[in-house]
Amino acid sequence: MPQIQPLLDAETIAARVREMGQEISRDYAGEEVVLVIVLKGSFVFGADLARAIDLPVTMDFLGLRSYGDGVQSSGVVEITTDLSKPVAGKHLIVIEDIVDTGLTMDYLFKNLATRGPKSVKLASLLHKPARTKVHVDIDYLGFTIEDVFVVGYGLDFAQKYRNVPFLGVLESDGVLE
Ligand code: 5GP
Repeated sequence: MPQIQPLLDAETIAARVREMGQEISRDYAGEEVVLVIVLKGSFVFGADLARAIDLPVTMDFLGLRSYGDGVQSSGVVEITTDLSKPVAGKHLIVIEDIVDTGLTMDYLFKNLATRGPKSVKLASLLHKPARTKVHVDIDYLGFTIEDVFVVGYGLDFAQKYRNVPFLGVLESDGVLE
């Protein structure tokens, strides 16, 4: 099993997620919000962020598959599991693990716009600006990171490491080559 070089420890992540929750609670005071959690990578971040938000939220889940070689997104995106209810007239906050090229969120935001929501904002735990292909506005951002492939805190490599409680980089012993 390859070693994971720590990048952001669990306490640092928890502190930032609490701040993001407070910011969202202030911005949407008095409103009802639907948290749209993007599967699978955002399930840990989504669970923590939801519990840091002091508002009457409901939660729904959306599965996306971005075709690629596992590390590189191709920009061809497919909805594998759709939301369970219509979102017309609702305030939506999309909860995503990481914005890399931006292609996945660009696709999702265009798709959600056709469903007539009252508003759609994006909360992303991570952003890798070095790899941007399409600009997406991130309304609530956890951390900006370098161009490295991260795992843990919900993020996988070949479906593994999602349960690692911190964020780190797989040490290069050939696994990513
Ligand atoms: P984008 O369409 O912005 O290039 O890619 C977004 C998706 O690619 C993320 O939701 C995530 O599934 C995957 N991804 C991008 N960078 C990383 C990374 O460093 N680690 C992991 N595990 N997934 C990543």
